[in-house]
Amino acid sequence: MAHVIVITGPSGVGKGTVIRLLRERMPSVRLSISATTRAPRPGEQDGIDYHFLGAEQFDLLIAQGAFAEHARYAGQQYGTLRSELEESPGEEDVIVLEIELQGARQIRESMPAALQVFIAPPSFETLRERLVGRGTDSAQTIDERLAVAGDELRAQDEFSEVIVNDRLGDAVDALERLVQGQLRGAID
Ligand code: ADP
Ligand code: 5GP
Repeated sequence: MAHVIVITGPSGVGKGTVIRLLRERMPSVRLSISATTRAPRPGEQDGIDYHFLGAEQFDLLIAQGAFAEHARYAGQQYGTLRSELEESPGEEDVIVLEIELQGARQIRESMPAALQVFIAPPSFETLRERLVGRGTDSAQTIDERLAVAGDELRAQDEFSEVIVNDRLGDAVDALERLVQGQLRGAID
């Protein structure tokens, strides 16, 4: 069975960036490609960044039980397809789920052995600056995401592993240590 690692935290905290750098260091780490009803951002590719689906297609997959978890976030649906969690032929198979809080809670129930990591910003203001600086979202979308972020940040106590993404290299180091520890724990 693959080692499942759930990475959550508010939008703009740097989850995608930290995971990308982790995967450069640990090529055996796979990233689950989520399904979503939100529109692709410029440069995002179907089947690579997300499986971009229509709302009806998404609902049909929910009805078919195709999702390991799914949640509505900022007016759109997001979910992890069970097919993404199937084992790949490599040994030491690690699969990362980059998902929001409601999905992380669902996985906590259904897969209690999965490592759950919350990525936190150094401050709320830094989060706003990163969302604005990323330049991918409208002012309204940023406000919606910051409105959700307050609740998400209050939930971080649910997580035994919290990494503050202040200096990027330190955050990647911390995540790498956790993942290596999880792999060692499975061997011991
Ligand atoms: P998320 O995946 O959590 O929504 P991103 O990985 O897209 O967040 O990061 C949001 C923005 O913050 C990006 O522009 C990214 O380059 C920047 N960023 C990420 N981590 C840091 C950091 N430690 N310090 C400064 N900027 C960061
Ligand atoms: P974005 O629109 O910025 O790509 O993602 C918005 C939020 O949805 C982020 O917090 C991201 O982690 C989360 N997300 C992405 N994929 C999934 C998924 O499959 N399930 C859940 N529950 N959340 C997801």
